[in-house]
Amino acid sequence: MKYVSIRELNKTYRAKGCADVPALKGVSFTLPEKGMVFILGKSGCGKSTLLNVLGGLDNFDGGDVIIDGRSMKDFSAKDTDRHRNEKVGFVFQENNLLDEYTVWRNVGFAVELQSVKGGGDQVAAALKSVDLEGFADRKCNRLSGGQKQRVAIARAIVKKPEILLCDEPTGALDSDTGEEIFNLLKNISNDTLVIVVSHDRESAEKYGDRVIELKDGQVISDSAPIEVAPVESKPEVQKKSCGLPAKRAFSIGASFLIERPVRLALCIIICLLTFT
Ligand code: ADP
Ligand code: MG
Repeated sequence: MKYVSIRELNKTYRAKGCADVPALKGVSFTLPEKGMVFILGKSGCGKSTLLNVLGGLDNFDGGDVIIDGRSMKDFSAKDTDRHRNEKVGFVFQENNLLDEYTVWRNVGFAVELQSVKGGGDQVAAALKSVDLEGFADRKCNRLSGGQKQRVAIARAIVKKPEILLCDEPTGALDSDTGEEIFNLLKNISNDTLVIVVSHDRESAEKYGDRVIELKDGQVISDSAPIEVAPVESKPEVQKKSCGLPAKRAFSIGASFLIERPVRLALCIIICLLTFT
């Protein structure tokens, strides 16, 4: 069985000249391979920190995170890259879309960056699953807040991640649009583990298959805890490279410039001036 197991996880933010901030203090729980799990708690209780650690965006000081039987403590830098690029997808409150680009390109970049063959089919499938098939050629700055968040979800699921990490995904939306997004995430959770961080208790109870509540960096309640046997960390088997080949990086960079003629002209002028 695949699952995510968090054991006595500790994380303290330390900076020179500032007091230490303990963000996670012995957090433990195990999650199944699919379903919708809410991490509920007030602002500052450690929700985003926990999500960032799970997604390999931040490190931790103590305890462990076991994913598919592997300890994150044994991850090399490449393993962490692969984890971020292939295993997890992120959805944030701010959708972080490239506003001047089309819906298709925003979603397509995620697969282009991995040089995935047949990426076009994956983009089409992702747009279909968020109900935005007819919007592929629309620039993102001409979409509503809810549509933008659906593009962000399509971008996160286009690589078919095993875990979708959502940090306050409806925080910037009105309540009806928020409901649409939660329904969409609920559908995705039929075959993916969807972890939603939120301070909205009502939605957590309505949509969550499980609600884990945090307070001051600690778990204070868990609606459906899972007991599992201790897991021995096993070595990674798959050794597929996750780096972006130089040729591909160059062509993506060039396509950015070509789509913006003014920026391209400025770049050429600056280069000429520099060389002169
Ligand atoms: P939440 O997402 O529940 O609002 P966070 O995980 O963002 O909480 O923050 C948990 C605690 O860690 C808070 O006290 C916050 O101020 C602190 N914190 C978060 N990020 C940093 C950081 N980069 N540096 C220092 N302290 C931080
Ligand atoms: Mg947060």
